Amino acid sequence: MIEYSGLQSKKILVLGLAKSGVAAAELLHELGAFVTVNDAKPFDANPEAQDLLSKGITVICGRHPEDLLDEGFELVVKNPGIPYSNPIVADAMKRNIAVITEMELAYLVSEAPFIGITGSNGKTTTTTLLFEMLQLGQLQPLIAGNIGTVACSVAAAATEDQVIVTELSSFQLMGTRTFKPRIAILTNLYEAHLDYHGTFEEYAEAKFGVTRNQTAEDYFIYNDDQEIVREYAQKSKAMLIPFTTKGKKANGISADAQNIYWNGEAILACSEIVLPGEHNLQNILCAVAAALLQGCPIEAIKNVLSTFVGVRHRTQFVREWNGRKVYNDSKATNVLATKSALSAFEQPIVLLAGGLDRGHSFEELREEMKHVKAVVAFGETALRFMAFAKSCGVTNTVRAIDVEDAVGYAAKSSEQGDIILLSPACASWDQHTSFEIRGDLFIDRVMKLS
Ligand code: ADP
Repeated sequence: MIEYSGLQSKKILVLGLAKSGVAAAELLHELGAFVTVNDAKPFDANPEAQDLLSKGITVICGRHPEDLLDEGFELVVKNPGIPYSNPIVADAMKRNIAVITEMELAYLVSEAPFIGITGSNGKTTTTTLLFEMLQLGQLQPLIAGNIGTVACSVAAAATEDQVIVTELSSFQLMGTRTFKPRIAILTNLYEAHLDYHGTFEEYAEAKFGVTRNQTAEDYFIYNDDQEIVREYAQKSKAMLIPFTTKGKKANGISADAQNIYWNGEAILACSEIVLPGEHNLQNILCAVAAALLQGCPIEAIKNVLSTFVGVRHRTQFVREWNGRKVYNDSKATNVLATKSALSAFEQPIVLLAGGLDRGHSFEELREEMKHVKAVVAFGETALRFMAFAKSCGVTNTVRAIDVEDAVGYAAKSSEQGDIILLSPACASWDQHTSFEIRGDLFIDRVMKLS
């Protein structure tokens, strides 16, 4: 850990606990900062706060006092989920007090370099693929962020011969100031999280934050197939590594139907890849490029690609059942994700969809509904989804009670050679507490099919 990071003796407010707030408070305390923690949950029901208090950290719980900042804080570390419109955050910005997230803290104390992965979709898949490649290549990677441990805890223990692979949300990136990854990846940019960011421009700016501090010795791997990303990349000071799935290119990483090319040279055959879909090929290109730049042997890369069946709940192959291939894409909680999943298959699809009704349209799926032969719908949007499927020419639509019930109908509506795909295009909260639980129930039921 870099002991001198300019944080010693500073008066620092940690806003919002949860896992990342606790880790940040403990680290800052250990570094010799004067830490105050403020969390909405009352002290009596807040074991994390009680624990921090016992370690000598000042704790203010159950309320956010309006005059909190009068105490003269020099820095605020906020939970990424707290919006900038929050009164204390807004007040801090008005007073020119720096507001950061724990990812910046992680960067300040880390001896190890970072690989930062961001984008609207594909972050977890790319992060997991890359981590597995580096691990197999014996390059001592550490994984941090949304998957794995809180970044600042990982960073505190990391040594300079390691590398921290981390998935970065736009919320985390907005709270960075000096964060400078050795390799930055931007998978793609679609409209998302506008409730938090306000405008697409603001969201895009946050995402591009991944390369903002990079310099000529760093690398920026970016989506050359998206104009907005391509244009922005020209502003990056890092070495540019474009990726494209639209055919062989002389520089960067590219793919056609046969091969993946590194600076125009074929390095592996697409037939060696297990993970389906063009969207996953984009994720694969990002991971392969970063792995190569990090010095990973090509054999380790190939080995991962020939065995990796997907991250749980993300177009994850579950099993083959009587000649049908079954996939779980429960993480597809929006229409764009389902669109990617549908376009990944050429075979006829029996689609299981539906869930929380946010009043959103399914229209974006119309083109991809062409090879859907049957729909089993459930949840709040069941009837709306069935009506939409019918309007796309899908005659076989069934309403099920829930995702488990839907599996039986899907089995009956399918035949050999078909794909059975759970890709709901809706959040799960009408019937489940998370998309993970929805996906697990689906897998359990599918494994019981005789
Ligand atoms: P994230 O971590 O960014 O949410 P994931 O890797 O968890 O991304 O994938 C979430 C969903 O997004 C998947 O279920 C898949 O349907 C879709 N998806 C994954 N990668 C891409 C991509 N590169 N482009 C478009 N959609 C994608």
